[in-house]
Amino acid sequence: MENNKQIVYLDNNATTPIDKRVLEAMMPFLTDNFANANSTHEFGLKAYEAVKTARKQVSELIGVEPGEIVFTSGSTEGINLAIKGVAENYQSKGKHIVTLTTEHSAVLDTCQYLETKGFEVTYLSVKPDGMIDLDELKTVLRDDTILVSVMLANNETGVIQPIKVIAELSHEVGALFMTDATQAVGKMAVNVDMLGIDLLCLSGHKLYAPKGVGALYVRQRMNRVKIPALLHGGGHEKGLRSGTLNVPGIVALGAACSIAQKEMTKNAESIGALRDYLETELLKIEGTSVNGNTSSRLFNTSNILFHGADSDAIIMGLSNPENDLPLIAVSNGSACTSTSIEPSHVLTAMGLDETSAFSSIRFSVGKFNTKKEIDIVIDAVKNVISGLRAMVS
Ligand code: PLP
Repeated sequence: MENNKQIVYLDNNATTPIDKRVLEAMMPFLTDNFANANSTHEFGLKAYEAVKTARKQVSELIGVEPGEIVFTSGSTEGINLAIKGVAENYQSKGKHIVTLTTEHSAVLDTCQYLETKGFEVTYLSVKPDGMIDLDELKTVLRDDTILVSVMLANNETGVIQPIKVIAELSHEVGALFMTDATQAVGKMAVNVDMLGIDLLCLSGHKLYAPKGVGALYVRQRMNRVKIPALLHGGGHEKGLRSGTLNVPGIVALGAACSIAQKEMTKNAESIGALRDYLETELLKIEGTSVNGNTSSRLFNTSNILFHGADSDAIIMGLSNPENDLPLIAVSNGSACTSTSIEPSHVLTAMGLDETSAFSSIRFSVGKFNTKKEIDIVIDAVKNVISGLRAMVS
């Protein structure tokens, strides 16, 4: 709490608060049982068992075998491990990778790095609604394509890509299919086999677990995926990710996955209703529109363009420490690149001009938000927008 102000947090795609039940599950492994999960004494065995349970909880959420889960520090690491790993191990088949211009910078920057190592990357543009153009995908896939990496749901717009079809098309040319499911896992049902996914990353802090823990799924059954390690050392995680296991974080991730699995339907309904209410009310403000496809979209995300209002000014107006109004946290692009003054690469890739991209705000609702909070946000946004527009008119 800053200045004892009430906080209305609508930036859940950037990170989520920790669910108290998750905190309770991890706490004993920070205090009483702090053992190394590789130690063979009784404490170590208990930590090992807790990791085993967590691995099962994570695997069940996405419908895979526990042995296919590699614990990581989060999605950035999972993405690096997957993409660089495939590049290294499959280059005898080819050196061509396909991805989207609207991917997270973790994917884009990894691909750009690989270009410096002699790989060729096709960055597919998207349609104005943020969806992949499947016809374009078909034309760029080649016999030497080794990997297609397309995110499941976009962090800025919530747009959900047709992953199953993309995976099928990738497999037709013998390429592996990787998806960054960071924003999707925990919010929507993700079954890796039904979708044809070979590699998938997820991150704890997007589903009410702490920061610094995540998982990478690497297919180990039919059409086994073989990738080398990024971190070498003690051979943890089947040699794919050495380093003493983050037992409390892993236990937290497992608990968060288990809770998400049980409560997903309920959350989708309640959060979806709040998002829809917020969006409907905000669109009543003149000169507003939604960025991105609204029928294939995460239920919690709303990216709105407020014509004639600068998004930085909107954010400041909503979180002004000088008044006694609640501090409202929203975002104007990927949090990971918010130090840069570039417009959102996602919105410009969808064809928005710079001014429109700089006038767009992402609202991402979470399971702890209430209708009362949404009402506060609606009123505050209306006030801030009319104030800003009055200043420029
Ligand atoms: N991919 C997406 C879609 C994200 O939203 C994020 C986080 O902002 C990441 C990857 C990076 O995840 P992490 O913070 O776990 O490294």
